[in-house]
Amino acid sequence: MEYPTFAEARRALDAGETSCEALVSSFLARIDERDDEINAFTTVDRDGALNHARYLDSQRERGNPRPLAGLVLAVKDNICIRGYPVTCGSRMLEDFSSLYDATVIDRLRDAGAIFIGKTNCDEFAMGSSNETSYFGPVRNPHDTEYVPGGSSGGSAAAVAAGMCHAALGSDTGGSVRQPAAFCGTVGLKPTYGRVSRSGLVAFASSLDAIGPLTRNVEDAATLLNIIAGQDERDATSAPVDVPDYTTALGDGVDGLRIGLPSEYFADGLDDDIRRMVHEQVDQLEDKGATVEEVSLPHTEYGVATYYLVATAEASSNLARYDGIRYGHRADLQETKQALRERRDELEDELATARTQGDEERVAELEAQLDDEQSTLDALYTRSRTEGFGDEVKRRIMLGTYALSAGYYDDYYEKAQRVRTLIRHDFEQAFEDVDALITPTTPTPPFRLGEKVDDPLEMYLNDIYTVTANLAGLPGLTVPIGTHPDTPGLPVGLQLLGPHFDEALLLRVGEAIME
Ligand code: GLN
Repeated sequence: MEYPTFAEARRALDAGETSCEALVSSFLARIDERDDEINAFTTVDRDGALNHARYLDSQRERGNPRPLAGLVLAVKDNICIRGYPVTCGSRMLEDFSSLYDATVIDRLRDAGAIFIGKTNCDEFAMGSSNETSYFGPVRNPHDTEYVPGGSSGGSAAAVAAGMCHAALGSDTGGSVRQPAAFCGTVGLKPTYGRVSRSGLVAFASSLDAIGPLTRNVEDAATLLNIIAGQDERDATSAPVDVPDYTTALGDGVDGLRIGLPSEYFADGLDDDIRRMVHEQVDQLEDKGATVEEVSLPHTEYGVATYYLVATAEASSNLARYDGIRYGHRADLQETKQALRERRDELEDELATARTQGDEERVAELEAQLDDEQSTLDALYTRSRTEGFGDEVKRRIMLGTYALSAGYYDDYYEKAQRVRTLIRHDFEQAFEDVDALITPTTPTPPFRLGEKVDDPLEMYLNDIYTVTANLAGLPGLTVPIGTHPDTPGLPVGLQLLGPHFDEALLLRVGEAIME
């Protein structure tokens, strides 16, 4: 790959050394070469990308290049591009196509970005390993026995394998940052409200954020310049000015105060990752930053709080997939047949219970027959049973439970209170320091299949990332080398900053990567 980053491609385009069409062709060749094995893409839009590239080339010839002309972008398959499938990695949306463009897509298209395809992800963005996709797992391009992380695993793998310049992902509890760390790319989760969510299929609306995955910090800044800003189609997007995120990139870290939250370096963190993060911190100190330890005392409740808030919101957001208005619809005749069979069974049992004079059982069976589902209800149930995978069902059940009468106060409301405490921890810390450094993940990438049967173990992977979503803060992960125990597999360092201070994170990230 001659121009793996957009920064390089843009210089080559300006110098007349390449064309948008040549860039797209080389990425398509790379996809042909590697994606059978990696499975990063659910859709590749060969003709659309090539045609758009040719159009951009002709515009450039007329002296009218757009700012992102030649940026070849992959888009997570839960972000809408008009006319493209948007599967969310689910059988539920296997045959669904977007009716409109997400706001980020609108803006990127206007700026000249070329969409090369949609990327595989955990089903409805629920997962940390990309093993819950209906379209099969994604594999880590550095070693295909290993997971790429999730849920934006296809986006991370596509960027890391050189199948596009950059990709969009979504991050509800770490789904941009964790796969970016596992694949060795840069990954940015912007402040909640910084980037419009319009056209992002909702998982947990108070936590969801769209962010870029790129090979370097400059490309992340370039993308954020375009996608950030208020949007009338998303009432939670913030009326906060958008700076030029590329201007301060080279400003270094002299005089910057960096905090290391002790809770993020406690037991459970892999020793080599701890050492590698500390080495980077030492280098920042050499470059003039001051470093101090800080405490975020409510960190230990982060994962529990996240898995209550996220599942509660998911159970509500996913109610719309009923097979009637949206999504996979079970076969009506089969549904009716199953209902009939069930009724016949109950009636047979009832007859037997009557002959046996078992009054209790008779009453029970009569009640069951009375409660029998309507055909419509049965169709909803069957459609959802067929359309959703196990992890999504698990989340819907957890969320419904947390929101149900009698448990709401103990679970959902309590989680909201703890969420506030977690936010206050950060506000307090940012009175003393400008940014925080943590590992992105507690462990290096794990093998496919290793954690898939143990949801709790899987959820603990998110321990360092979920807090930024709960507090609405920006988070950036940058690659800092490969892990000695899993040769060739990347390790990430996470930067967290105050609301709307992405520019600072990008600047520190650039200092780490230069
Ligand atoms: N891994 C986390 C989860 O499974 C985060 C997902 C995300 O950010 N979309 O919920």
